[in-house]
Amino acid sequence: MQFQLPPDTPRGPLTRFAPAPTGYLHLGHAASAVWVWGVARALGGTVLLRIEDHDRGRSRREYEQAILEDLEWLGLEPDLGLPSEYRGGSSEYRQSDRAAVYERELARLTGAGLVFSCDCSRRRLRESGTDMPNVETRYDGRCRHRGLAPESGRGVRVRMEPGEEQFVDLRLGVQTQTPVEQCGDLLIRDRLGQWTYQFAVTVDDWEEGVNLVVRGEDLLESTGRQLRLARLLGRPSGPRFLHHPLIMSPSGAKLSKANRDTGVRELRVAGVSPEEVLGAAAAATGLLVEPATIAAEDLGALFKV
Ligand code: GLU
Repeated sequence: MQFQLPPDTPRGPLTRFAPAPTGYLHLGHAASAVWVWGVARALGGTVLLRIEDHDRGRSRREYEQAILEDLEWLGLEPDLGLPSEYRGGSSEYRQSDRAAVYERELARLTGAGLVFSCDCSRRRLRESGTDMPNVETRYDGRCRHRGLAPESGRGVRVRMEPGEEQFVDLRLGVQTQTPVEQCGDLLIRDRLGQWTYQFAVTVDDWEEGVNLVVRGEDLLESTGRQLRLARLLGRPSGPRFLHHPLIMSPSGAKLSKANRDTGVRELRVAGVSPEEVLGAAAAATGLLVEPATIAAEDLGALFKV
């Protein structure tokens, strides 16, 4: 059961696998990896391994090491952002080593008059009434016109004007999103001085030349705002996107790092082979009719070009 890639999918793309080192790899990550490596190999492309440790409070080097080890055990070798480079110290692809790049891009937005300081706490946003149950927190624009000076303890937001963002997902077809209604003015640096996921990932995808983003459907809602932000940063056209299905736990919830039973390490210790893990991940996301073994070097065969 191959996945047919649309005819206009870029050939020889640069794509990326971008885990956050806030826990161990689980079957959901393995599924993402199957899609990333599979699509890249089917199209003669390149895989970049990016360590997304922008969240300093939750990221740990110990998890980064474990992720590198688990990827190696699965046989998944990136072409850029090699494990040996990460182990060697600083890396041009580890987000916490890229502060100078983010500072430069923030300066670009500041120069264009597109950002403002914000001292709102999450609590205030929750209580402001714009935070609907089960819907993400939408910023209500309170500090937009307050003219607060940038100082420590204040966050930075980028002004988002109303309007739709449309893109064609390579699996889901045409998508229309309205970033202002979803999230309001996007937070790019939080009150602790940490770069946010949305900002770091948008800067990185552009700066590193990523032209095909393959990732889980849980991030579909982020895509419109990332395209918008990329344009504000000067990227003329964004990358292409393919959002793959997620693996749900038996209870129907998204798999998380807390699901120890589906941890790649636990499976390994239980005697499951790398080929069985990749086969199970492929089957659970609709790439195989039933779990079968598949080796990392054969993942390209799951996709029809
Ligand atoms: N770092 C994100 C995660 O671990 C992935 C971000 C992305 O693919 O855009 O879920």
